[in-house]
Amino acid sequence: MRIEVLTIGNEILSGRTLDTNFAQLARALEEANVQIGWHSTVGDNAERIGEGLKTALARADAVVLLGGLGPTPDDLTRKAVATTLGRPLRLDEHVLDSIRARVRRLGSKLPASVEAQALLPTGAQVWENRLGTAPGLLLLHHDKPVILLPGVPHEMEALLRDELVPYLGARSGARVVSFTLRTAGAFESQLHEKIGPLAQRWPGATLAYLPSFFGVDLRVTVAGADAQQVEDVAASACGELRALVAPVLYAEGAQTMEQVVGERLVERGLKIATAESCTGGLLAKRLTDTPGSSRWFERGFVTYSNESKVELVGVSREDLATHGAVSAPVAEQMAAGVARRAGVAVGASVTGIAGPDGGSEDKPVGTVFIGVHTPEGTVTRRFSFLGTRATIRERTAQMALDLVRRGLAGLPLEARLE
Ligand code: AMP
Ligand code: MG
Repeated sequence: MRIEVLTIGNEILSGRTLDTNFAQLARALEEANVQIGWHSTVGDNAERIGEGLKTALARADAVVLLGGLGPTPDDLTRKAVATTLGRPLRLDEHVLDSIRARVRRLGSKLPASVEAQALLPTGAQVWENRLGTAPGLLLLHHDKPVILLPGVPHEMEALLRDELVPYLGARSGARVVSFTLRTAGAFESQLHEKIGPLAQRWPGATLAYLPSFFGVDLRVTVAGADAQQVEDVAASACGELRALVAPVLYAEGAQTMEQVVGERLVERGLKIATAESCTGGLLAKRLTDTPGSSRWFERGFVTYSNESKVELVGVSREDLATHGAVSAPVAEQMAAGVARRAGVAVGASVTGIAGPDGGSEDKPVGTVFIGVHTPEGTVTRRFSFLGTRATIRERTAQMALDLVRRGLAGLPLEARLE
């Protein structure tokens, strides 16, 4: 089954709003093994929406239209679909009732025009939108599904998950199982060299390398008509791949590095404090992104100046003068010092040159020292990151979290695939 997606809205065409809805949809459909053959974007113009829909119907097995279901005159999707498919708009009493009930709950602060959202192309099946007033709609045109989803991202996502993926998944008839292994510390090319053509030996499987500054995610999707076989292949593929990338594997599925660090701290009953220079608090931000982090995150300092490194976490002035702020001894003293000052067992520190200026021959931009203090001792590692100021900071925070994870689990500090 190969579908076409039509994103609708002037704000997308002008580049003012990024088409995150399409990205969400594409990822979710990949999991359901529904292939997207075409994706186009159309402005808020009924004629062009109609043209786009006709073109899509001529080549795709199903069409999904995203957006333009609002109550304002620029939201034309329902009207354009009604005209193109020859299904005049009719008032749907049930949808009207639920819009009115919603307006009452909100204290009737919505204009009467929201009721226009109850005008649906004849024969449309309604997918209830619990988060807003515009429902999702399903029409069958000569047995080809035409699906309309609202543009508001969280509404679109809910309908995507609850209705669209199950519907298209069932229609495509395939059983699909997928899993993700998250790695940090190895390049895509290194992983590729290690894994090689392994995926070709798994029937019905595809392996995707998904790099970001958090590392490389390995996503495997197995699809087939035989549910048992799909599950067996996925299970053995997961086992094989896990073993191959074990030295750089930090999480599975959607779990983040900071969640893993939090779990390790809880397991050991320890708390962490941070002292950061070039990341300016990003490490503390990442750690406290996790709900419940107050159980294991004690405090974080942004020790940007030399003076603050001395005053707040007790770095020696002499070492600052001898080795410079970006150095292993300073990272070590920051990590041990912040743990001591905060009265906790674990300390993490970052000191580096995020650029674009400030590099030197022996410490170019991207040179970062990370320190980790645990009950087992204090360690430091030197990194050389490539990228812009922003990406160097992101990579630094990720590798600092990874070093904490390794320190807490007693793993080797350096990720080596061989
Ligand atoms: P609409 O249903 O087209 O009126 O969209 C409502 C709001 O959702 C718009 O004002 C945008 O802020 C947002 N939106 C619409 N389409 C998209 C999209 N493809 N990706 C991200 N946000 C969108
Ligand atoms: Mg719109």
